[in-house]
Amino acid sequence: MQGPKPVSRRQFMWLSGLVAGAAGLAISPMGRAADPPRGDRDADTVLTQLLEGNKRFMRGELAHPRRKPEDFVPLADGQAPLTVVVSCADSRVAPELIFDQGVGDLFVVRVAGNVIAGAGASVKGSIEYAVAELDVRLILVLGHSQCGAVKAAIKHIDDKDALPGSIGDLVDLIRPAVAMVKDKRGDILDNAIKANVEQGVNRLKRLEPILADAVKKGTLKVAGAVYDLHSGKVTSVG
Ligand SMILES: [Zn+2]
Repeated sequence: MQGPKPVSRRQFMWLSGLVAGAAGLAISPMGRAADPPRGDRDADTVLTQLLEGNKRFMRGELAHPRRKPEDFVPLADGQAPLTVVVSCADSRVAPELIFDQGVGDLFVVRVAGNVIAGAGASVKGSIEYAVAELDVRLILVLGHSQCGAVKAAIKHIDDKDALPGSIGDLVDLIRPAVAMVKDKRGDILDNAIKANVEQGVNRLKRLEPILADAVKKGTLKVAGAVYDLHSGKVTSVG
């Protein structure tokens, strides 16, 4: 007679997570606290928290922190997000999912091509609001592999014909990043995606008066990263 089948490590962690979830405990499938102290808003600590969440996402060991209806209730009267994430509008790049964060954690500004320079008041003002009014100390500009907006900028870099509607104006904002890497070795799309992130980071660091002052005072960090659609990994840039 065969004994019970051994439980694999993955099954064990899934079961542990299930039991913990049933008990209403905020612990990850690994059995440790999923969340650092909520009061710690230091930029490096928050960035580490995001990258750890991305590792959980990659391993398929999601903690799914703060996603229940009751988690929304304490936030009804105010928010204290840990970071601004400026990411592409692409449907495959959902910051809360790829960083395994919960409601109230991320102040997300999404715009195709995660463009910042030239994007106007709606993008810049949103980011400034989070820093000035919500005391956010980290801004993460997040590009991603296979970005359609960057691809379009490469494809139309030398075109004189305009893209329809406002698409051409949007793609124009990415042209400087493409021009920067045009003669660089390696894959032009990957290089342009990185350059586009770096340009966004540099623009925000110098954005007077709110962001530039906070960066000078050391109360704000602006970082860049690229999310790989194939591996699920987020890699810091710059
Ligand atoms: Zn994109």
